[in-house]
Order: sequence, then structure tokens, then C-alpha cells
Amino acid sequence: MHGSGEQVTSIRKNPAKIFPGQHLTNPVPWSSNGYYLAERPSFTLDPLFHAGAYYVQEASSMFVEQALKQTVDLSQPIKVLDLCAAPGGKSTLIQSLISSNSLLVSNEVIKTRVNILSENITKWGGENVIVSNNDPKEFQRLENYFDVIVIDAPCSGSGLFRKDPSAIEEWSINNVQLCSQRQQRILADVFSSLKEDGVLVYSTCSYSEEEDENICDWIKDMFRVESLELRVDGTWGIVETESKKFKAKGYRFYPGKVKGEGFFIAAFRNKGAAGFNQQNGKERTLPGKVSKNEIEIIGPWLKDPGDHFFIRQNEEIIAMPLHLQDELALLQSSLYIKKAGVRMGAVIRNELIPHHELALSTITNSSVPGCEVDLETVLQYLRKQDIKINESIKGWALIKYRQLPLGWVKILPNRVNNYYPKEWRILNK
Ligand code: SAM
Repeated sequence: MHGSGEQVTSIRKNPAKIFPGQHLTNPVPWSSNGYYLAERPSFTLDPLFHAGAYYVQEASSMFVEQALKQTVDLSQPIKVLDLCAAPGGKSTLIQSLISSNSLLVSNEVIKTRVNILSENITKWGGENVIVSNNDPKEFQRLENYFDVIVIDAPCSGSGLFRKDPSAIEEWSINNVQLCSQRQQRILADVFSSLKEDGVLVYSTCSYSEEEDENICDWIKDMFRVESLELRVDGTWGIVETESKKFKAKGYRFYPGKVKGEGFFIAAFRNKGAAGFNQQNGKERTLPGKVSKNEIEIIGPWLKDPGDHFFIRQNEEIIAMPLHLQDELALLQSSLYIKKAGVRMGAVIRNELIPHHELALSTITNSSVPGCEVDLETVLQYLRKQDIKINESIKGWALIKYRQLPLGWVKILPNRVNNYYPKEWRILNK
């Protein structure tokens, strides 16, 4: 089974940005923005990849879209937790599905994996996302808070044997047991932060019943939940399963049957009585006030300055949607927040020194100067080399490739300063 089926590459377009790439003709059937590619190109050398115009994601995982669309009213303002989020595949997908007045908390417990998560969230460009670095049990402080919790659990990884042969060597029965216990621990730790009638989406990339259907039985045993049935088109090749004890519905993806990697997903609705919401009624304030003068300086950089509130973190000013002001104050008192909203930059001597996050965000004013450059120049820029620009602009400008912003330059009379972040620069030739 693991060796069957062809290797497939798929990408998911970012609906919040333009996609000036090749015309894509082969859609992933259960996804609105996913497409299969005929071959695997060098993503590193594609500026559109760095601009956040798409995310490289294997197709089975994109089914999270169906799980959410079929069980949640996504037109409403909702609060979603993606608990095991790095490197950000499901989080960027969720971000594209929720409304702009919703909130996504994208969490990763392992500190070294939070940077890549923040980078991918930054590239995706939205501002209604908070990236946190917390252990699942720390979400107990947010009792009865989230409308949706997605747990893409760490697992033994048998669904990846075809894609990554080293996964075979790491697999053992003992490891499956350890993973199953860890999955139960994660679920037990976080479940109280799901609201009554909230939806829990559980997924793995493992074929082991111990990590899939048996976990569904464990969930039914532990919590008052109802298993949710999802509609799947018979032509998609997805296998519907039921857990042994409670007949909870699950959906299995086998590489020989679907065009995608091994995957399991199940959804539940919380039918438990709402717990006491400890968060209500507590007065909280956000630290780091931003002055009127600073707001006047940063305003023109934004499409709709009146729709945001601003806070300061060290020297830098962060913009977030106005409606998330109370949420941020509350979450800041409960979680370790790595990134929130869009970092705009620092105001120094009455001038904004713009941050890279602002360049990649979807909130930047279209009147901010931009320089359209060719492929060779943009790759030099992404390698953080010196570039030349034939434009009469002076000062701060966005480097754009096929209209998509990639980062900042400062154009001086005799040179161009390249502000691409050093830690993001591409290294291969
Ligand atoms: N959702 C991600 C995506 O779509 O890109 C992939 C997540 S990966 C399958 C599982 C994640 O769980 C990893 O990032 C891993 O670091 C994290 N993890 C490992 N141990 C964990 C634990 N005890 N509690 C919560 N998360 C854990």
C-alpha cells in the first residue's frame, strides 16, 4: 500500500493575494484553492512562494476545509484554536476560511518550531491571527473559550511512509502506544477550552487504529460529544470508517485510493454543559500605548487605519483589527504570545521604519511606493544581495515581482539598501 500511487505535489493558493503564476488546471476536488502540479518545481527559486501567494500542502490535509465548512458557520465571528500548528499548513488554510472578524490562535508547543510557524503566518498576510507557544494544558486557563479546536496531533507517521522513507525506520508498536497516550493527554488537557456546541477536529497522518478510531472512542468515553458525519463524494476515494465501540465516524485517506498522502480525520460537537467562564468580567488592559503622533505617522501606510488598534512591543508598533482588542488583552494574560497581528515597524524621528511583516501583509495601503523588478533582480533581493533599480522613487519602497510585494528597500541617492530579513534569505544558487 505504501509504495502504491504516484508521488503528487499540490499547492493551495492564498485567496487574500493575487496569483500571477501559471494557469492551474488540476484542482484538488475537496478544496477550493488547492491544485495538483504536474511536477515538483523548485519552490525556493519561485518568488511567488516567498510572497505567500501559495502554500505547498499535500492534498489530503486540505480536507480540513470540508470538516470545517460542513460543521461550522464560517460566516460568523468565531474563535479557532489550531493547537499543534507548526509549520502552519492547517493554520494558513483555516485563516483563509474564517471571516475577517474571527480569530485564529495558532499554537505550537515546541519552541524551535514556532519560528517557521510565524514565518508562514507572516507570509499569508492576515492580521486576525495570534501565534502562541504554549503547552496544551495551559489552555485550561481559557475555559469554554473556543468555537473550534483543531488538533492535528503528533503521531507515528505511517501515512508518510511513501513520502518520507525514514518514517518507516522510526515506526514501532511501542511508538504507536506512546503516540496514542500523548494524543489522549493533549485532548484531555485542552478540551475544557472548547465551548458548548463547539467543534473539535482531530486528525493524524497515521494509519494505526490506536491513534485514529480508538482515539475517537476514547473521546466519546471521556467527553459528552457527538460524532459528526461529513459528506464525501464517492469519486474522491476517501474511506469512511467507524470506531469499534461508539461507531464514531472517521475518514481515512490512503495514497493508493486518493491523490494525496495518508491521513485520518474526525469531527465532534461538544454537548457538555458550558463550564464557568472565568474570563468574563475581569478588567484587562493592553500594555504599550502608542501616541497620537505615532498613529498619525503610521496611518497612511494602512489601507483602513481606522479599523485597527495599535500596541507597542519594545520599539515596534503592532496593528490588530479593532474588534480583537479585548481578546488580545485576555489572551495575553493567559498565553505566551509569540506574534499577534501585523508588526508595522518602529517610529524613529517621526518616520516609520517599516517591518517586513507589513510588506507581506494584506493591510498595506496600495499608495505605498513599489518597484516592480524582474526575476533576476528579485532573486538577488531574496538572497539579500545588492540590487539596482531603475526608478525615480526615493526612500522606502516595496520590492514587487508580478505585483506581489516581497519586502522593503530604501532607495538612497547613490544606492539601494536591501531590508530582506537575513534569517529568511535564500541560500542556494
Ligand atoms: N498542523 C501542522 C500543519 O498542518 O502544518 C502539522 C502538525 S504536526 C502533525 C504535529 C505538531 O504537534 C508538531 O508541530 C509538533 O511539534 C507538535 N507537538 C509535539 N508534541 C506535542 C505535544 N505534546 N502537545 C502538543 N503539540 C505537540
